[in-house]
Amino acid sequence: MKESLLIKPLMNDFYPKAVRGSGIYLYDDQGKKYMDGSSGAITASIGHGVKNIIKAMHNQSKNLSFVYRSQFTTDPAENLALKLNEIVNTDERYWSFFVNSGSEATETAMKMAIQHWQEQGDYKKTKILSRWISYHGITLGALSMSGHVTRRERFQPLLEDCPTVSPPYCYRCPFKKSYPDCNLTCASELETAINRIGSEHIAAFIAEPIVGAAGGVLVPPDGYYQRIKQICEKHRILFISDEVMTGIGRTGKMFAMDYWNVSPDIIALGKGMSAGYAPIAATLASEKVMKPILKGSKSVMSGHTYSANPQSAAAALAVINYIEKHQLVKKSYENGKYLLAKLERLKKSHPIIGDIRGKGLMIGVEFVSNQMTKEPLPSEKGLTNKIIKCAREKGLLLYPASSGVDGRVGDAIIIAPPLVIKKREIK
Ligand code: PLP
Repeated sequence: MKESLLIKPLMNDFYPKAVRGSGIYLYDDQGKKYMDGSSGAITASIGHGVKNIIKAMHNQSKNLSFVYRSQFTTDPAENLALKLNEIVNTDERYWSFFVNSGSEATETAMKMAIQHWQEQGDYKKTKILSRWISYHGITLGALSMSGHVTRRERFQPLLEDCPTVSPPYCYRCPFKKSYPDCNLTCASELETAINRIGSEHIAAFIAEPIVGAAGGVLVPPDGYYQRIKQICEKHRILFISDEVMTGIGRTGKMFAMDYWNVSPDIIALGKGMSAGYAPIAATLASEKVMKPILKGSKSVMSGHTYSANPQSAAAALAVINYIEKHQLVKKSYENGKYLLAKLERLKKSHPIIGDIRGKGLMIGVEFVSNQMTKEPLPSEKGLTNKIIKCAREKGLLLYPASSGVDGRVGDAIIIAPPLVIKKREIK
């Protein structure tokens, strides 16, 4: 075996070497075939090796691979911004700021929110409120908003902020209530936090419409986001929707927030936006957010060398066009229902399955020791990792998530295959 100097997620673990991808399948150097059951990290949403996308990237790179954003604009970046504005389901106009990862997108969102208030002379509004059992990214700003204990604990001294609000986690309601009698206590808790901290100190509230990696897919009850938006508006606080995992069709709507018809002030996108073909992510800011910036300094204080890279923008544009042309949002909605129903049946025969939940092709399965008491799996035994390894041996790739029971990764999985999956493959 050749020596390896590559730092991998777990240095004492075995990683097969991937050499090829086609449709919903990946192949390793031993010729083994894997079904990409979670689209990598909920990313490869149109599957692998799609010729249209490769052609679009090739054509772009023949002409122009790189320009710096402070020197040039380009057609792919301009057209992608127009396309994103077109697919947002509201009358509001959204401007795009391109970055390279979901972490950069949420961190840019937090900076834009703060800048929005500064440009109006509100220098005290600097706090970003967020929820426990959430994940907004690994860079320090994004991590400080994330309610993910395992990812925070090592860097705690560097983290400026800390989540303040409980998640909408109906299977294990933090308030021991049940919907609808709960009267959405979890949403009202935001107002309690605002009153405690003082709205004059708060720039924004950020949330994943459907919690992904930190919670194993938590879908909030109806009315939750409407209440959240009302509270934000009442207290002059911007609402940031982190659609990095849920955006661009994953949940059976173009944006997961479309399920509740709520217009966020800022939207963070990544992952499925380019479906893994190139690193690109975006922060979308509404006209309301941009107005004071356009009137004031006229410059968003953020940016990276590779922001709005033309090759990545061409890839993302081709991916979104592909999703529209092949009606993959609708397919995600329909096939998600089919997959959910099939998984529900496993609950009867598998006593370790506690809860199955999701929207479209983003489905979480939470494991328990006891279905009745919902006693979590003993996390020290690493049973979820064993399940994931066993599935991989059988040729199915899955994504681990924390159920949030004690904030540790390891007791839920996310099933989120490419949106092009067919019913017989789901079966
Ligand atoms: N926001 C959400 C909701 C995510 O799920 C993730 C990644 O899993 C991120 C942000 C960070 O994205 P990235 O890993 O591309 O930096």
